[in-house]
Amino acid sequence: MSYTVLVFVKQVPDTQNITGEAMKPDGTVNRAALPAIFNPEDLNALELALQLKDRFGAKVVVGTMGPPNAAEVLRASLYRGADECILLTDRAFAGADTLATSYALSCCVKKYGEYDLILCGRQAIDGDTAQVGPQLAEKLDIPQIAYVEDVVELSNKKVVAKRRIDGGYEVLECPLPAMMTVIDANEPRPMAAKRIMKYKRARTKFELTKEHAGANYTDAEFLVEEAEKLAGKGLLINEWTAEYAGADKERIGLLGSPTKVKQIQSVVLTGGDAKNVEPSEAGVNDLIHELIEDHTLG
Ligand SMILES: Cc1cc2nc3c(=O)[nH]c(=O)nc-3n(C[C@H](O)[C@H](O)[C@H](O)COP(=O)(O)OP(=O)(O)OC[C@H]3O[C@@H](n4cnc5c(N)ncnc54)[C@H](O)[C@@H]3O)c2cc1C
Repeated sequence: MSYTVLVFVKQVPDTQNITGEAMKPDGTVNRAALPAIFNPEDLNALELALQLKDRFGAKVVVGTMGPPNAAEVLRASLYRGADECILLTDRAFAGADTLATSYALSCCVKKYGEYDLILCGRQAIDGDTAQVGPQLAEKLDIPQIAYVEDVVELSNKKVVAKRRIDGGYEVLECPLPAMMTVIDANEPRPMAAKRIMKYKRARTKFELTKEHAGANYTDAEFLVEEAEKLAGKGLLINEWTAEYAGADKERIGLLGSPTKVKQIQSVVLTGGDAKNVEPSEAGVNDLIHELIEDHTLG
Protein backbone atom coordinates (compact mmCIF):
# COMPACT_ATOMS: atom_id res chain seq x y z
CA MET A 1 0.00 0.00 0.00
CA SER A 2 1.25 3.51 -0.75
CA TYR A 3 0.18 6.35 1.49
CA THR A 4 -0.50 9.99 0.67
CA VAL A 5 1.14 12.37 3.14
CA LEU A 6 0.31 16.08 2.94
CA VAL A 7 2.88 18.41 4.55
CA PHE A 8 2.09 22.08 5.21
CA VAL A 9 5.12 24.33 5.38
CA LYS A 10 5.48 28.06 5.93
CA GLN A 11 7.91 30.59 4.51
CA VAL A 12 8.83 32.85 7.44
CA PRO A 13 10.90 35.99 7.94
CA ASP A 14 14.38 35.12 9.17
CA THR A 15 14.11 36.89 12.51
CA GLN A 16 17.81 36.20 13.16
CA ASN A 17 19.02 38.29 10.21
CA ILE A 18 17.08 41.51 10.25
CA THR A 19 18.61 43.99 7.71
CA GLY A 20 16.42 47.04 8.32
CA GLU A 21 13.23 48.16 10.02
CA ALA A 22 11.44 44.86 10.67
CA MET A 23 8.10 46.59 10.87
CA LYS A 24 6.36 49.04 8.59
CA PRO A 25 4.70 52.05 10.29
CA ASP A 26 1.29 50.34 9.67
CA GLY A 27 2.33 47.42 11.91
CA THR A 28 2.75 44.88 9.09
CA VAL A 29 5.96 42.90 8.61
CA ASN A 30 8.53 44.66 6.37
CA ARG A 31 9.39 41.51 4.38
CA ALA A 32 12.03 43.36 2.36
CA ALA A 33 14.16 43.74 5.49
CA LEU A 34 13.72 40.13 6.48
CA PRO A 35 15.11 37.42 4.26
CA ALA A 36 12.57 34.60 3.93
CA ILE A 37 13.44 31.12 5.16
CA PHE A 38 11.86 27.67 5.51
CA ASN A 39 10.17 27.49 8.93
CA PRO A 40 12.59 25.27 10.88
CA GLU A 41 10.09 22.79 12.34
CA ASP A 42 8.44 22.42 8.94
CA LEU A 43 11.74 20.95 7.74
CA ASN A 44 11.32 18.37 10.51
CA ALA A 45 7.75 17.70 9.36
CA LEU A 46 8.96 17.26 5.77
CA GLU A 47 11.78 14.99 6.96
CA LEU A 48 9.32 12.76 8.84
CA ALA A 49 7.15 12.53 5.70
CA LEU A 50 10.19 11.53 3.60
CA GLN A 51 11.16 8.91 6.21
CA LEU A 52 7.61 7.47 5.96
CA LYS A 53 8.07 7.42 2.16
CA ASP A 54 11.37 5.50 2.59
CA ARG A 55 9.95 3.09 5.21
CA PHE A 56 6.36 2.45 4.08
CA GLY A 57 6.08 3.90 0.57
CA ALA A 58 4.25 7.21 0.32
CA LYS A 59 3.57 10.13 -1.98
CA VAL A 60 4.69 13.35 -0.29
CA VAL A 61 2.66 16.43 -1.27
CA VAL A 62 3.84 19.79 0.13
CA GLY A 63 1.53 22.78 0.38
CA THR A 64 2.03 26.37 1.49
CA MET A 65 -0.21 29.44 1.68
CA GLY A 66 1.74 32.55 0.83
CA PRO A 67 2.77 35.21 -1.69
CA PRO A 68 4.12 34.09 -5.13
CA ASN A 69 7.72 33.97 -3.89
CA ALA A 70 6.72 31.31 -1.34
CA ALA A 71 7.30 28.94 -4.27
CA GLU A 72 10.90 28.95 -2.97
CA VAL A 73 10.02 26.68 -0.02
CA LEU A 74 8.22 24.34 -2.42
CA ARG A 75 11.29 24.04 -4.65
CA ALA A 76 13.39 23.43 -1.53
CA SER A 77 10.93 20.63 -0.65
CA LEU A 78 11.28 19.09 -4.14
CA TYR A 79 15.08 19.21 -3.78
CA ARG A 80 14.74 17.14 -0.58
CA GLY A 81 12.38 14.51 -1.97
CA ALA A 82 8.81 15.83 -2.18
CA ASP A 83 6.74 14.48 -5.12
CA GLU A 84 4.20 17.24 -5.69
CA CYS A 85 3.64 20.83 -4.54
CA ILE A 86 0.74 23.24 -4.13
CA LEU A 87 1.08 27.01 -3.72
CA LEU A 88 -2.09 28.49 -2.25
CA THR A 89 -1.67 32.09 -3.35
CA ASP A 90 -4.17 34.90 -3.73
CA ARG A 91 -4.28 38.50 -2.48
CA ALA A 92 -7.47 37.46 -0.68
CA PHE A 93 -5.39 35.27 1.67
CA ALA A 94 -3.22 38.19 2.85
CA GLY A 95 -3.22 39.24 6.50
CA ALA A 96 -4.71 35.96 7.70
CA ASP A 97 -4.60 35.08 11.35
CA THR A 98 -4.47 31.45 12.43
CA LEU A 99 -8.23 30.92 12.12
CA ALA A 100 -8.23 32.15 8.53
CA THR A 101 -4.99 30.33 7.74
CA SER A 102 -6.25 26.98 9.02
CA TYR A 103 -9.54 27.44 7.13
CA ALA A 104 -7.65 28.14 3.89
CA LEU A 105 -5.47 25.06 4.42
CA SER A 106 -8.57 22.95 5.11
CA CYS A 107 -10.00 24.07 1.75
CA CYS A 108 -6.72 23.03 0.13
CA VAL A 109 -6.96 19.55 1.72
CA LYS A 110 -10.60 19.10 0.66
CA LYS A 111 -9.75 20.20 -2.87
CA TYR A 112 -6.80 17.82 -2.98
CA GLY A 113 -8.96 14.81 -2.10
CA GLU A 114 -7.71 11.47 -0.76
CA TYR A 115 -4.93 11.49 1.88
CA ASP A 116 -3.81 9.41 4.88
CA LEU A 117 -1.76 11.82 6.99
CA ILE A 118 -1.27 15.58 7.35
CA LEU A 119 1.99 16.79 8.89
CA CYS A 120 2.60 20.33 10.14
CA GLY A 121 5.46 21.85 12.08
CA ARG A 122 4.69 22.34 15.77
CA GLN A 123 5.15 26.12 15.47
CA ALA A 124 6.12 28.93 13.09
CA ILE A 125 8.94 31.21 14.28
CA ASP A 126 7.06 34.42 13.32
CA GLY A 127 3.47 34.05 14.58
CA ASP A 128 4.70 31.55 17.18
CA THR A 129 1.14 30.45 18.02
CA ALA A 130 1.34 26.70 17.27
CA GLN A 131 -2.37 26.99 16.54
CA VAL A 132 -2.65 26.23 12.82
CA GLY A 133 -2.07 22.45 12.91
CA PRO A 134 -4.65 21.69 15.63
CA GLN A 135 -7.13 24.17 14.09
CA LEU A 136 -6.73 22.44 10.72
CA ALA A 137 -7.51 19.03 12.25
CA GLU A 138 -10.58 20.53 13.90
CA LYS A 139 -11.87 21.93 10.60
CA LEU A 140 -11.35 18.56 8.88
CA ASP A 141 -12.89 16.72 11.84
CA ILE A 142 -9.92 14.31 12.02
CA PRO A 143 -7.92 13.16 15.09
CA GLN A 144 -4.61 14.83 15.88
CA ILE A 145 -1.37 14.13 17.72
CA ALA A 146 0.81 17.13 18.63
CA TYR A 147 4.54 17.27 19.46
CA VAL A 148 5.37 14.13 17.46
CA GLU A 149 8.98 12.95 17.53
CA ASP A 150 8.64 9.87 15.34
CA VAL A 151 6.25 7.32 13.82
CA VAL A 152 6.53 3.83 15.30
CA GLU A 153 4.05 2.14 12.97
CA LEU A 154 1.88 3.00 9.96
CA SER A 155 -0.78 0.67 8.56
CA ASN A 156 -3.81 1.28 6.37
CA LYS A 157 -6.04 2.08 9.27
CA LYS A 158 -3.86 3.62 11.94
CA VAL A 159 -0.67 5.39 12.89
CA VAL A 160 1.30 4.77 16.09
CA ALA A 161 3.40 7.78 17.02
CA LYS A 162 5.85 8.77 19.74
CA ARG A 163 5.25 12.28 21.12
CA ARG A 164 7.22 14.36 23.55
CA ILE A 165 5.63 15.26 26.88
CA ASP A 166 7.06 16.98 29.93
CA GLY A 167 9.67 14.74 31.46
CA GLY A 168 9.45 12.03 28.80
CA TYR A 169 7.36 10.74 25.93
CA GLU A 170 4.24 8.74 25.25
CA VAL A 171 3.24 6.42 22.40
CA LEU A 172 -0.23 7.00 20.94
CA GLU A 173 -2.29 5.05 18.40
CA CYS A 174 -4.65 6.98 16.16
CA PRO A 175 -6.99 6.04 13.27
CA LEU A 176 -6.29 7.49 9.81
CA PRO A 177 -6.69 10.01 8.32
CA ALA A 178 -5.04 12.11 11.04
CA MET A 179 -3.03 15.32 11.53
CA MET A 180 0.26 15.42 13.44
CA THR A 181 2.45 18.38 14.42
CA VAL A 182 6.14 17.57 14.37
CA ILE A 183 8.91 18.84 16.64
CA ASP A 184 12.65 19.23 16.00
CA ALA A 185 13.47 15.61 16.87
CA ASN A 186 14.97 14.52 13.54
CA GLU A 187 17.80 15.64 11.29
CA PRO A 188 16.31 17.10 8.08
CA ARG A 189 18.10 15.60 5.08
CA PRO A 190 20.05 17.98 2.86
CA MET A 191 18.88 18.93 -0.62
CA ALA A 192 20.10 16.30 -3.10
CA ALA A 193 22.28 17.58 -5.98
CA LYS A 194 20.53 15.35 -8.54
CA ARG A 195 17.11 16.64 -7.45
CA ILE A 196 18.31 20.25 -7.53
CA MET A 197 19.43 19.71 -11.15
CA LYS A 198 16.01 18.28 -11.97
CA TYR A 199 13.74 20.63 -10.04
CA LYS A 200 15.54 23.98 -10.29
CA ARG A 201 13.37 24.58 -13.39
CA ALA A 202 10.16 23.93 -11.45
CA ARG A 203 7.93 27.01 -11.75
CA THR A 204 4.48 28.36 -11.04
CA LYS A 205 2.54 29.95 -13.92
CA PHE A 206 3.01 33.33 -12.18
CA GLU A 207 6.81 32.88 -12.26
CA LEU A 208 6.68 31.82 -15.92
CA THR A 209 4.78 35.00 -16.81
CA LYS A 210 7.19 37.15 -14.87
CA GLU A 211 10.24 35.47 -16.39
CA HIS A 212 8.99 36.05 -19.89
CA ALA A 213 7.37 39.44 -19.45
CA GLY A 214 7.98 41.41 -22.67
CA ALA A 215 8.84 38.39 -24.82
CA ASN A 216 7.66 38.83 -28.46
CA TYR A 217 4.57 36.65 -28.26
CA THR A 218 1.35 36.90 -26.38
CA ASP A 219 1.78 35.77 -22.81
CA ALA A 220 -1.32 33.59 -22.79
CA GLU A 221 -0.19 31.58 -25.83
CA PHE A 222 3.31 31.21 -24.43
CA LEU A 223 2.09 30.44 -20.93
CA VAL A 224 -0.06 27.53 -22.03
CA GLU A 225 2.75 26.06 -24.12
CA GLU A 226 5.41 26.47 -21.42
CA ALA A 227 3.12 25.29 -18.61
CA GLU A 228 2.22 22.15 -20.56
CA LYS A 229 5.90 21.46 -21.24
CA LEU A 230 6.75 21.87 -17.57
CA ALA A 231 3.74 19.83 -16.45
CA GLY A 232 4.85 17.07 -18.81
CA LYS A 233 8.18 16.95 -16.96
CA GLY A 234 6.56 17.14 -13.51
CA LEU A 235 8.02 20.64 -13.07
CA LEU A 236 4.84 22.72 -12.89
CA ILE A 237 4.09 23.83 -9.34
CA ASN A 238 0.32 23.84 -8.78
CA GLU A 239 -0.88 27.35 -8.08
CA TRP A 240 -4.32 27.50 -6.45
CA THR A 241 -6.36 30.65 -6.01
CA ALA A 242 -8.98 31.08 -3.28
CA GLU A 243 -11.69 30.42 -5.87
CA TYR A 244 -10.02 27.26 -7.20
CA ALA A 245 -9.62 25.93 -3.63
CA GLY A 246 -13.31 26.64 -3.03
CA ALA A 247 -12.61 29.08 -0.18
CA ASP A 248 -15.33 31.40 1.13
CA LYS A 249 -13.88 34.94 0.74
CA GLU A 250 -15.47 35.97 4.07
CA ARG A 251 -13.41 33.35 5.92
CA ILE A 252 -9.93 34.05 4.56
CA GLY A 253 -7.31 36.79 4.83
CA LEU A 254 -7.98 39.95 6.83
CA LEU A 255 -11.75 39.55 6.26
CA GLY A 256 -11.75 36.14 7.92
CA SER A 257 -9.43 37.08 10.78
CA PRO A 258 -10.95 38.00 14.15
CA THR A 259 -7.45 38.86 15.41
CA LYS A 260 -5.08 41.43 13.93
CA VAL A 261 -1.44 41.98 14.81
CA LYS A 262 -1.66 45.52 16.24
CA GLN A 263 2.04 46.16 16.65
CA ILE A 264 5.24 44.18 16.98
CA GLN A 265 8.09 45.40 19.16
CA SER A 266 11.48 43.77 19.10
CA VAL A 267 12.40 43.29 22.73
CA VAL A 268 16.17 43.63 23.19
CA LEU A 269 17.19 42.46 26.64
CA THR A 270 20.26 44.47 27.60
CA GLY A 271 22.65 43.40 30.42
CA GLY A 272 23.33 46.27 32.87
CA ASP A 273 22.04 46.58 36.41
CA ALA A 274 21.61 43.41 38.37
CA LYS A 275 19.23 43.18 41.30
CA ASN A 276 19.34 40.88 44.31
CA VAL A 277 16.01 39.20 44.96
CA GLU A 278 15.27 38.15 48.50
CA PRO A 279 14.96 34.32 48.44
CA SER A 280 11.44 34.34 49.92
CA GLU A 281 7.86 34.27 48.67
CA ALA A 282 7.59 37.99 49.30
CA GLY A 283 10.83 38.61 47.38
CA VAL A 284 9.65 36.61 44.38
CA ASN A 285 6.20 38.29 44.47
CA ASP A 286 7.83 41.73 44.46
CA LEU A 287 9.96 40.71 41.47
CA ILE A 288 6.93 39.43 39.53
CA HIS A 289 5.00 42.66 40.21
CA GLU A 290 7.97 44.68 38.98
CA LEU A 291 8.25 42.60 35.78
CA ILE A 292 4.52 42.99 35.11
CA GLU A 293 4.69 46.74 35.75
CA ASP A 294 7.49 47.22 33.22
CA HIS A 295 5.70 44.89 30.71
CA THR A 296 8.46 42.32 30.68
CA LEU A 297 5.81 39.84 31.79
CA GLY A 298 2.10 39.71 30.83
C1 LIG B 1 4.47 38.53 15.37
C2 LIG B 1 3.18 37.90 14.93
C3 LIG B 1 2.24 37.59 15.88
C4 LIG B 1 1.05 36.98 15.50
N1 LIG B 1 0.14 36.68 16.46
C5 LIG B 1 -1.00 36.06 16.10
C6 LIG B 1 -1.95 35.69 17.09
O1 LIG B 1 -1.76 35.93 18.27
N2 LIG B 1 -3.10 35.08 16.68
C7 LIG B 1 -3.32 34.81 15.39
O2 LIG B 1 -4.36 34.24 15.08
N3 LIG B 1 -2.43 35.14 14.42
C8 LIG B 1 -1.28 35.75 14.76
N4 LIG B 1 -0.38 36.08 13.80
C9 LIG B 1 -0.68 35.76 12.43
C10 LIG B 1 -0.17 34.37 12.17
O3 LIG B 1 1.18 34.41 12.10
C11 LIG B 1 -0.66 33.88 10.88
O4 LIG B 1 -1.96 33.63 10.98
C12 LIG B 1 -0.02 32.63 10.38
O5 LIG B 1 -0.42 32.34 9.12
C13 LIG B 1 -0.23 31.36 11.18
O6 LIG B 1 0.09 31.45 12.50
P1 LIG B 1 1.52 31.11 13.07
O7 LIG B 1 2.53 31.87 12.33
O8 LIG B 1 1.45 31.28 14.52
O9 LIG B 1 1.70 29.58 12.72
P2 LIG B 1 1.70 28.33 13.69
O10 LIG B 1 0.34 28.02 14.16
O11 LIG B 1 2.75 28.46 14.75
O12 LIG B 1 2.17 27.25 12.59
C14 LIG B 1 2.12 25.89 12.88
C15 LIG B 1 2.27 25.13 11.60
O13 LIG B 1 1.16 25.38 10.73
C16 LIG B 1 1.59 25.36 9.37
N5 LIG B 1 1.37 26.69 8.78
C17 LIG B 1 1.26 27.89 9.40
N6 LIG B 1 1.07 28.89 8.49
C18 LIG B 1 1.09 28.28 7.27
C19 LIG B 1 0.97 28.75 5.92
N7 LIG B 1 0.80 30.03 5.65
N8 LIG B 1 1.05 27.84 4.91
C20 LIG B 1 1.23 26.51 5.18
N9 LIG B 1 1.36 26.00 6.42
C21 LIG B 1 1.29 26.87 7.45
C22 LIG B 1 3.08 25.01 9.41
O14 LIG B 1 3.24 23.61 9.35
C23 LIG B 1 3.49 25.51 10.79
O15 LIG B 1 4.61 24.90 11.32
C24 LIG B 1 0.82 36.69 14.14
C25 LIG B 1 1.78 37.01 13.18
C26 LIG B 1 2.94 37.61 13.57
C27 LIG B 1 3.97 37.92 12.52
